[in-house]
Amino acid sequence: MEGQPYEYRRRPLVEPDWTRFPGWRDVTREQWESAQWQRAHCVKNARQLRTVLGDLVGEEFYADLDADQQRLATMSMLVPPQMLNTMVPDQAPDTQAFYADPVRRYMIPVASDRHPEWPSHPYATRDSLHEHDMWVAEGLTHRYPTKVLAELLSTCPQYCGHCTRMDLVGNSTPAVDKLKLTLKPVDRYDAMISYLQAHPGVRDVVVSGGDVANVPWRNLESFLMRLLGIETIRDIRLATKALVGLPQHWLQPEVVEGLERVARTAARRGVNLAIHTHVNHVNSLTPLVARATQTALEVGVRDVRNQGVLMRGVNATSADLLDLCFGLQGEAGILPYYFYMCDMIPNAEHWRVAVWQAQELQHDMMGYLPGYATPRIVCDVPFVGKRWVHMLTEYDRERGISYWTKNYRTSIEHDDTEALAKQYPYYDPIDTLPEFGVRWWRKQDEAAAA
Ligand code: SF4
Repeated sequence: MEGQPYEYRRRPLVEPDWTRFPGWRDVTREQWESAQWQRAHCVKNARQLRTVLGDLVGEEFYADLDADQQRLATMSMLVPPQMLNTMVPDQAPDTQAFYADPVRRYMIPVASDRHPEWPSHPYATRDSLHEHDMWVAEGLTHRYPTKVLAELLSTCPQYCGHCTRMDLVGNSTPAVDKLKLTLKPVDRYDAMISYLQAHPGVRDVVVSGGDVANVPWRNLESFLMRLLGIETIRDIRLATKALVGLPQHWLQPEVVEGLERVARTAARRGVNLAIHTHVNHVNSLTPLVARATQTALEVGVRDVRNQGVLMRGVNATSADLLDLCFGLQGEAGILPYYFYMCDMIPNAEHWRVAVWQAQELQHDMMGYLPGYATPRIVCDVPFVGKRWVHMLTEYDRERGISYWTKNYRTSIEHDDTEALAKQYPYYDPIDTLPEFGVRWWRKQDEAAAA
């Protein structure tokens, strides 16, 4: 039907030509498809970016990037060639196109991207979801009644500027001294397994980090097989952005063969084994991403799902979200599952959207995709957990404060008789508020500083 707010057109996936970058003019397909080559050629700073882009991009961009890394960045820089190649995919980038690119905006943030007056919300915190507070063993967060998050390690093959686990994940930056895991991996994994054996009410484990693609395969397989040995575990989800950031990893024979052993064991035991990945823009979907996904499904992983993050300048329009969802669902074999609102971490205000904007986006996405592939936009409310964006109980639009309730206790609230009766606040970015609200927050800020 013509004349709809969103017009669907099938867009087959294309691997952008990496030889358009001066630094990769001579890179062969064999090198490109090697996980080792990709890892060895990750871009970690402005100097290395200049080596790849040369003078396609002006000096002001590199200075802007340096300024961000020195003063504001909560994540150090780590961009695999695969991801860099999805920025300005159709041409050799120029300065303006590179600045405007949606993948660049979250993978290579620069100082001028951040909001000048409100880079952080006054209530932004390092561990905004209090995952660390809810550790029941090192790296094991027990927040929901039947599910846990197992952070096996604190590194990833790529670092996203908006990482919600910025408290723990990645190298320290001048702005953030990271928390360190202290136990040896083998002791950490033992403690996690012991907790799960002792708590049969936990049935679902998100195996994460960081990114499981950075756990040596042998160690990951052994951990997963131990999980599969616990009869009460019925769901296992592997969290890996590398499926899209470094699909070459998931195509290595050692990994594919190992994944097949794990998937077959899971199927025999009736456990749902899935991969959860993190794609924020349709440009990140390339034929290699689809091949890695297809391979995981062929060896018996039951489903591959996407949990993207909703961010201004990246994907916060209904057309961007629908383009991405159709690419995921129709071309890459990945189920559009969730879009999270960007969490209230420091220096993230320029990315965050207001709850009412998220509600509008959810509304505008309905009816185009198959129902089971229509993602939910969720707000991860501190001390509450994920809520669909329409589930708030009250909303002060002038001050941008929404209120939420919950129906279970987290692991730190066993003795809190009020936990289920309380309303929990969540805050819109101040620059999205009407003038009255902005003035109100300025006054609060001045009073706090006095
Ligand atoms: S891949 Fe996930 S854990 Fe790693 S930096 Fe990105 S958002 Fe954080």
